[in-house]
Amino acid sequence: MSDPVISAKDLTVRYQIGHGLLTQKSYLNAVDGVTIEIDKGSFFGLVGESGSGKTTLGRALLKAAPISEGEVIYQDNQVRYDLRKLSKEQLKDYRKRAQLIFQDPYAALSPRMTVRDIIAEPLEVMGLTKTREETDTRVREIAASCRLNLEHLRRFPHAFSGGQRQRISIARALVSGPRFVVADESVAALDVSIQADVLNLLKSIQRDMGISFLFISHDLSVVAHVCDHVAVMYLGQLIETAPTRSLFARPRHPYTKALLSAIPSLDPDDRGNTEKLEGEIPSPTSPPPGCKFNTRCKFAQDRCRKEVPPLREMAPDHFTACHFAEEFDFTRAQDDAPGLETA
Ligand code: ADP
Ligand code: MG
Repeated sequence: MSDPVISAKDLTVRYQIGHGLLTQKSYLNAVDGVTIEIDKGSFFGLVGESGSGKTTLGRALLKAAPISEGEVIYQDNQVRYDLRKLSKEQLKDYRKRAQLIFQDPYAALSPRMTVRDIIAEPLEVMGLTKTREETDTRVREIAASCRLNLEHLRRFPHAFSGGQRQRISIARALVSGPRFVVADESVAALDVSIQADVLNLLKSIQRDMGISFLFISHDLSVVAHVCDHVAVMYLGQLIETAPTRSLFARPRHPYTKALLSAIPSLDPDDRGNTEKLEGEIPSPTSPPPGCKFNTRCKFAQDRCRKEVPPLREMAPDHFTACHFAEEFDFTRAQDDAPGLETA
């Protein structure tokens, strides 16, 4: 039985671009009909090229991007919220239960505040502590969990390295005691050696505090190491979602396969970097009909240009949105699926 902290059904986030006066009014679905469940205590990865809608999806789940269609339900042991129907009080409460860790530890921290004040600010804004002593106790507690040196709390962020600053951002995100955290490219700006430190910290937080993470990354090798479940996004849609092991052992969507091929060590086909993903992502204001990946897919057939492929369960808990998913075997060195002509 699944026990999701977050479940979204047919979630669409639509933005209007142009105002209809001088420029023509048009719309884009940054997130386009996404159904996703993130289990309690899970470290859930979300991958896809830049512009595929990862950040927007993460923000919609935090009620920080508009839910144009569909629904998002948040649930923990105390509350159940339909994010479309939150009262003011509930939204305030949701802000402490669901948090974002920013990508850039340099931009995210105010240079004029001490580390103590940066971490304490959410407590004060949300009114979670009543006295300065109470605030200090909580700040010290969360700083220690984030392996910050308590003597550093009186310093300013410029005194710290990238990895330490990212730990400060993490402490700030966790101080309100969230149950669900979106980490959006949280290690992308860091040196590789420091990335591992921060990842280990996030993993131990997930284990020790039972927090569920949505870990957004364009780096599949990082996702392969830390996530228990992975969803692959393309032009606002999930095209494949699976337990990490299943996804990496045998991707079933040509797009996932192409992403893995870009990292030779992860390519199940083992021939290394043989096929680059060609072409650009089409504009989200005028996506192609049928399967949105058809313009870049070397296996695309007529049907792919007409019919939208639904997500289908191809292996336990492994869902793929491709009409021809059963015809590919990306576990072996065999790209040309039987019965399909390559375009
Ligand atoms: P990713 O995080 O995967 O790079 P984003 O979620 O940032 O993708 O963006 C998805 C698409 O939505 C992009 O085409 C982006 O330009 C567009 N987009 C994101 N936010 C807005 C906004 N506030 N208004 C209009 N378009 C947006
Ligand atoms: Mg992004």
